Amino acid sequence: MPDILWLEEIRKEDIAAVGGKGASLGEMSSIGLPVPGGFVVTSRAFRQFLVESGLEDPIFTELEKLDVDDNRALEQVAKRAKSSVMKAKMPAEIRDRIKEAYARLDSGDMVVAVRSSATAEDLPDASFAGQQETYLNIRGEKALLEAVQKCWASLYGARAIYYRAKQGFRDRGVNIAVVVQQLVNSEKAGVMFTSHPVTGEPLTIIEGSWGLGEAVVSGSVSPDKYIFDQRTGKVVDRLIARKAIEIVSDGAHGTKTRDVDKDRQEASVLSDPEVARLANYGKIAETHYAVPQDVEWGIVGDEIFILQSRPITTIRGSVSAPKMEAGESPIIVRGQGASPGIVAGRVVIVHDVKDIGGVQEGDILVTRMTNPDMVPAMRKVAAIVTDEGGMTCHAAIVSRELGTPAVVGTRTATATLRQGQLVTVDGEKGFVYDGVLEQPAAKPATAGFVSLPLITATAVKVNVSIPEAAGRAAATGADGVGLLRIEHLILGLSRTPGWFITNNREEEFVQELYRGIKIVLDAFYGKPVWVRTLDAPTDEFRNMQGGENEPLEHNPMLGWRGIRRDLQSPDQFRLQAEAFRLLWEQGYDNLGVMFPMVSHPDEFVAACAMLEEFGIDTRKATLGIMIEIPSSALLIEDFIRAGIDFASFGTNDLVQYTLAIDRNNENVATMYQPKHPAVLALIDSAIKVCRDNGVECSICGQAGSEPPMVEWLVEHGISSVSANIDAVAKIRETVARTEQRIILESARRSNA
Ligand code: PEP
Ligand code: MG
Repeated sequence: MPDILWLEEIRKEDIAAVGGKGASLGEMSSIGLPVPGGFVVTSRAFRQFLVESGLEDPIFTELEKLDVDDNRALEQVAKRAKSSVMKAKMPAEIRDRIKEAYARLDSGDMVVAVRSSATAEDLPDASFAGQQETYLNIRGEKALLEAVQKCWASLYGARAIYYRAKQGFRDRGVNIAVVVQQLVNSEKAGVMFTSHPVTGEPLTIIEGSWGLGEAVVSGSVSPDKYIFDQRTGKVVDRLIARKAIEIVSDGAHGTKTRDVDKDRQEASVLSDPEVARLANYGKIAETHYAVPQDVEWGIVGDEIFILQSRPITTIRGSVSAPKMEAGESPIIVRGQGASPGIVAGRVVIVHDVKDIGGVQEGDILVTRMTNPDMVPAMRKVAAIVTDEGGMTCHAAIVSRELGTPAVVGTRTATATLRQGQLVTVDGEKGFVYDGVLEQPAAKPATAGFVSLPLITATAVKVNVSIPEAAGRAAATGADGVGLLRIEHLILGLSRTPGWFITNNREEEFVQELYRGIKIVLDAFYGKPVWVRTLDAPTDEFRNMQGGENEPLEHNPMLGWRGIRRDLQSPDQFRLQAEAFRLLWEQGYDNLGVMFPMVSHPDEFVAACAMLEEFGIDTRKATLGIMIEIPSSALLIEDFIRAGIDFASFGTNDLVQYTLAIDRNNENVATMYQPKHPAVLALIDSAIKVCRDNGVECSICGQAGSEPPMVEWLVEHGISSVSANIDAVAKIRETVARTEQRIILESARRSNA
């Protein structure tokens, strides 16, 4: 096996030499797909490096002795192994071969992406995706050699070691190859389904937007959509969306999001000949692999690049299982329908977050309760089913934003469902059926009807928790964001705020926060966005790096969360304030900040004083509170005197604290009643006080996504309502209907 293999020399069987990623790119390139050019530094080169540098035995001996459940030891061993790989000298002949190969790429000046591609001897196609590093924007021999060595070192990252140990891999048998490939800074990019993903018809569906493909893949823009009929060779349908933002390369700093200039926003991304060329590549891939493909593509100038191709996992017809009519198929699990949609797939039961690596695209994730560490996997799956939780639990909130069907609070899913079982999940009704249901016929399109936008006096806003949902949220036409939960953003970093502080990585934390919030502010340019300061109960931090330092609380819901924690943790509060300050300084006047779990006006005053200390002029800033504790509803007048600009009912908590019903406990779910007279009395009186004082009063709890509750709120004078993404349309309709009824009734009364 040589040290270097060019992509076009590689076939899919070469996994042992080039890893899964390298083999797949090689195969694509060998069938004539325009894959960005490059080569692979094979696993042989890595082995030779380990042997010649004398590292092989010391590293493996240490790994074999390691108990991976001992976190400290794991971190130390990982650190030592990585640093010895980085310090060791790369054998001269490998070094020379890499340099030679690089010199052949555009005379040695090409900007490349350097990606790890791991493999295991005993299971060559083991998926180690995401376990090792990728380095983008690498230019020049020196930087390339260093990036290759860093990829090698990443094989010994703590997470990677842990994952392999838990999957039963022997480290001695695990290898790593490194793919060095032309970096494509796409001017336009997107995805393509080579056949219709639901019916399997020969209709190629292409979605595209400006800039890098990340914008389409992550859902942060609504892309243009083209349908190409392979039978007639024609574009049969197209939908040109308004593309407000694009993600582009930011030199050495990775990527950045920027506004699309006006004249491109509503322009078609692809011409018909480009659609046809793309569809043709799609057909080549589909014919070669003999199954419909999900393809990522990018275009620079006239040149099309195919970046990835993998089987579509959502074609129901391709699942080899008996089809059943809904009527004859047994419901095997019931719970609450937390995120609408019907989808079929194979069950993967995850008992421990550490096993999440086995979750594949299109699976049905079944678990006791999701937590923020699982969000990357939640993005991939077709549906989510949990034993615990209610409509406001983590699984419910995140699934709704991802647009993934979910059933929560089933009590029995992890015990009743079997690994690999084929099931159909109905996220609206809250049912899980055995087998694959026939999809109900699509509702006829409302062709010929033009729906006018509904203008309402009561603002209808939307809730956002993950920045990647900002595009979908903005596409609802909502009047702003009534709640941006930043804890999901922070928890997604898989390290606690405390970890960033103790490891002197504060700036990184601020930047992450700044970037995430900015994506949402950009998507809602000119509309108010209320960002809530951190509100994560200590138990949600537990699985993260740094989680070991979180206090153990008997009742985290009543514990150290929300503003009370920030007031006692000035560093944590300061970092959030820093991100807000940066955004305000850049002119994002649409940013408002909301404090959660406030129980006394003194807390609001203290929070403002701390913001002042951190350099924020609180007189200019828009600041408000959540009403989540009965005390804050009762003391709302004092809060107004203390200077709040707005208040928003967090009914998820207000209900639990008024009725003493744990919002996540399915045993008492039927007693969890947002319309309980005591809850309504608190809301009613607080709305009145806010109205009398001209202070905006809103709702951002789950009850704001439920039409009967919203009808009541509008009747009682709420100024705005913030709903979940999937509920905005129906809530806008409810608000409009209620407002019109109020006007009509009042007109009738005055005419009587
Ligand atoms: C609420 O309590 O209603 C709320 C919106 O906050 P969270 O669900 O994040 O506690
Ligand atoms: Mg709350």
